Amino acid sequence: MTVFSHPEFDDHEHLSFFSDPETGLKAIVAIHNSSRGPALGGCRMFPYADDEAALRDVLRLSRGMTYKSALANLDLGGGKSVIIGDPHTQKSDVLLEAMGRHVEGLGGQYIAAEDSGTSVADLKVIGRQTRHVAGITEHIAFDGQPSNGDPSPTTAYGVFAGLKAAVKHKLGRGDLTGLKVAVQGVGNVGYRLARHLKEAGAELWVYDIYRENMQRAVEELGAHPASADDILFLPVDVIAPCAMGAVLNDTSIPRLQASVIAGAANNLLQRPDHDQALKDRGILYAPDFAINAGGIIDVFYESTGASPEEVRAHVEGIGETLTEIFTRSDNTGTPTGAVANLLAEERFRKHDEASAQAY
Ligand code: NAD
Repeated sequence: MTVFSHPEFDDHEHLSFFSDPETGLKAIVAIHNSSRGPALGGCRMFPYADDEAALRDVLRLSRGMTYKSALANLDLGGGKSVIIGDPHTQKSDVLLEAMGRHVEGLGGQYIAAEDSGTSVADLKVIGRQTRHVAGITEHIAFDGQPSNGDPSPTTAYGVFAGLKAAVKHKLGRGDLTGLKVAVQGVGNVGYRLARHLKEAGAELWVYDIYRENMQRAVEELGAHPASADDILFLPVDVIAPCAMGAVLNDTSIPRLQASVIAGAANNLLQRPDHDQALKDRGILYAPDFAINAGGIIDVFYESTGASPEEVRAHVEGIGETLTEIFTRSDNTGTPTGAVANLLAEERFRKHDEASAQAY
């Protein structure tokens, strides 16, 4: 297994490999860049086929967190951890506590949060051994409602703010009355996004593989039911993919009829060049890691004592960041995903320079 010459290695600052034979813990922590602050990112548990697959994931995901936090103007760096194992059969309190001791050993350079394969309850177990966990404290969220740590409501509100910015930019509309939107996946984020859209007067189409979720959106929001095959290809104004990644690909892009894509799911583009393919078709793509940053903003503010109004204003800033990305894309001809990467790099490299000057 190579590290420094690994294709996903991108000058990561720190990598730690942990093994605890007593509990069976095998884990990797990656800190990509900490120029803006401590590296916050999820702790994922997954039965990786081999160590190489785990390393690839942690390198890629930690880098993604640097970009997401910088673009969201948070004083956070990018990090991630992976525990190699099946969360259904190999997770135990002693294993999670061992993980907590290792995170504590990093002295706060890395802050762990929930991710796929781990829950808020698991993070609380990790938190028995370290203070450096986030997303587990009950607090008042951006909307003044009590939150148990679940960032989905804030993510949904951020996607709504970003979608409005995209519609304004592409369609010149500030009013969403009658706007036609297709939402793929009406789970924690997608359902709440659909509710915001409904309240703003939009007409909705929804599809979810989980029947109950689909039914809830149809009954409670008056959404039109769609099918797995047509949800992305309806003659609507906006597609909001809120289920899974890689849905923008060689097969789907030529068939899209919407002129705006604004959804919560991560890694929507199957390959980086699909960014250009969307631009070539005149479709405005709101980069996923820019529009879905509400959750990390919520986690960041959880224990800072910020007021709901401050958090709300920060989340609404997602719309301003997207407008900057769209305008630069128009002015330079560079597709929006690439512009978002450049803007994030400006934001974390500026901090690199500022901290270098402080010494
Ligand atoms: P979720 O599991 O609550 O909801 C996803 C929904 O999509 C579920 O209802 C599921 O049944 C449905 N689904 C799965 N496969 C589908 C398919 N092929 N077609 C249609 N529907 C399908 O997850 P969530 O928390 O709402 O997150 C949605 C997406 O947003 C994920 O990609 C997640 O990584 C991303 N995201 C979430 C957050 C957050 O705060 N929850 C933050 C950033 C990004």
